[in-house]
Amino acid sequence: MTILEVAVPIPINKTFHYLSAQNIIPADIIGRRVKVPFGQRKLIGYALREVNDVNNLQNKSNFKLKEILEVIDCEPIIYRESIELAKYMSENYICSIGEAVSSIISPSMKAPKRISKKKAAPYIISSESPLLNSYQQNAVDLISQSILNYTNPQKNNFLIHGVTGSGKTEIYLNCIDFAIKNGKSAIMLIPEISLTAQFVETVTKRFGDIVGVWHSGISNIDKYKLFCKSLHGEIKIMLGTRSAIFAPFKNIGIIVIDEEHEDTYKQEQKPSYDAREIAFWRGEYHEASVVLGSATPSLETYKSALENKMTLIKLPERIDKKDMPNIEIISLKNRLKAGGLLLSETVDALSKTLARKEQAIVFLNRRGFSTSLMCKNCQTVYQCPNCSISMVYHSKPASLRCHYCGYVKNLPAICPECKSKEIAVFGRGTQRVEDELNKLFPSAKIFRLDKDTASLKENYGKAYHGIKNDEYDILLGTQMIAKGFDFPRVSLVCIIDADTSLYLPDFKSAEKTFQIITQVAGRCGRGKTQGNAIIQTSRPEHYAIKYAKTHDYESFYQKENSKRQAMFYPPFCDISKIVIKNKDNDRCEIEADNLIKILENIAEQNKLNLKLLGPAPAYIAKLYNVYRQHIIIKGMRKEILRLMELSGEFKKKFSDTQIGIEMSPSNLI
Ligand code: ADP
Ligand code: ZN
Ligand code: ZN
Repeated sequence: MTILEVAVPIPINKTFHYLSAQNIIPADIIGRRVKVPFGQRKLIGYALREVNDVNNLQNKSNFKLKEILEVIDCEPIIYRESIELAKYMSENYICSIGEAVSSIISPSMKAPKRISKKKAAPYIISSESPLLNSYQQNAVDLISQSILNYTNPQKNNFLIHGVTGSGKTEIYLNCIDFAIKNGKSAIMLIPEISLTAQFVETVTKRFGDIVGVWHSGISNIDKYKLFCKSLHGEIKIMLGTRSAIFAPFKNIGIIVIDEEHEDTYKQEQKPSYDAREIAFWRGEYHEASVVLGSATPSLETYKSALENKMTLIKLPERIDKKDMPNIEIISLKNRLKAGGLLLSETVDALSKTLARKEQAIVFLNRRGFSTSLMCKNCQTVYQCPNCSISMVYHSKPASLRCHYCGYVKNLPAICPECKSKEIAVFGRGTQRVEDELNKLFPSAKIFRLDKDTASLKENYGKAYHGIKNDEYDILLGTQMIAKGFDFPRVSLVCIIDADTSLYLPDFKSAEKTFQIITQVAGRCGRGKTQGNAIIQTSRPEHYAIKYAKTHDYESFYQKENSKRQAMFYPPFCDISKIVIKNKDNDRCEIEADNLIKILENIAEQNKLNLKLLGPAPAYIAKLYNVYRQHIIIKGMRKEILRLMELSGEFKKKFSDTQIGIEMSPSNLI
């Protein structure tokens, strides 16, 4: 019998010991997954080490060790990098080593009955790259050089800030090609797979058999196959969503993260890792280059590029010097009286586009589908005096609440700005817009794509091919039509309610609004005709909207950045969100109160420079009959982590209450 140290995916930060019978357990068991008894359960753990000092261990633990039940893998799949990365994750995202490893190597991956090992396919590029323009060529040269000569993260990490349609994809593909030709591997992350079928097609066409496509939708057997193929070098490019960042290549040359500003790179559940941070970590480990790209970089990324923590590459022009879409802002103020959602200018533009046999995209900013209170007369939305974010409408008891600090206000009877009595809760649906479009343009063929339509994936394919093949005239939808689409015949984009995302109770609401307008408007004018975007908004004077109109990312960044500094929000600090859950509302509130007192005490005693906000009900204050309160912590990441370390396993004190912590949440909703 030997004794093995096993990491188990449970929220206790220690490893466990098990016996392995030599006659049934292979000699090189280290690095394989094993099924072990754990209390009443059976869990899949990770064999980390053999323990030699058996006597010592036996005496100390003073109880009988249990035996390993089953060995899952037919070869070791956990190696040194995984363990080191798990350590980094456990420290930075507050989870156990076992939980971290189970993010890196999914416990549910299943070995197929037989695995055929193949030699890597010869590398042939099957489709050609267009001749690069000078901006693209410069970027490719710079990044290729860095792949060959690693110096330091500052020089080897890049941000490509390129306007929509500036040809970022070609840069990525050329750099990946270069890395492969130099005997290295590549990881390429995209925000969402089902909505980027077009993109996956391009990449697989270009690189053929050496590409693996990884996302949450593939089977556990396929995951295992892909995992082993990358481990053995049978594939050299992993294209996928967030967790593809863990592809077990041994010699990464480049990691690309397209649309780096997207929230999907951040995992909300434990461990709440950010794929961009993992990319930087692995980049250093492999001495590889990391390339982030976006037309609307996140504030934190752009800031670190400006501070020379990474190299900034700018692509200020569209391919073939095509014009940026012309953006027209139309104020909704005092205009939507008849109950319609489309203003006459929008209707005009749509009919002209349809008459020219061109296509249009109609976009609803559903992200902002929320319950804020707005004055119908002057469009004022109520903001918390402490946090400068929108207050959220609650019906029971009728009130406005700040979901950051807990500030409560009675519903105002009249608007404090203009004294109007017309105050309403707002929110709009795609269905209503579809009805209106059908009435206005009875002969137009309209495709509606939103989260309500069943089987999104299938519908997405239909929408994509339908628009491409001219079967539809208007594509109507929410968030999911904002990215990826590259249709040459779309010449008009209408945004029905640009500002709804401004009212979200979140410090990133202006940033999100700027991003969404820029990205959606960027869908048009990619072909031969000039693109036009019409933006209906009740806040035409808001800087997020004004700067989106003039395609002025730089000014937007400066303005938003100084606001963040003034209010002490990221990127000037880190934020973490503690969520307290209990089936009983009173208990939930009491324990949240207790917890914040404990945390405040610890912070004070240890002179931690932190700001604690709350507790306050979460944006979704009750989910599946469980009440949720949250506490927001602002400060430097190191100090937040220190606070968590000092407060230890505070969960023990609150047995029927669940407490979770998310580091740097992508939103505070
Ligand atoms: P972005 O990702 O920056 O929005 P894309 O990568 O989608 O831009 O490129 C926009 C369009 O330009 C695509 O249709 C792409 O095939 C095309 N394209 C990219 N580079 C070139 C080039 N050098 N010459 C001609 N067409 C190009
Ligand atoms: Zn008013
Ligand atoms: Zn507040």
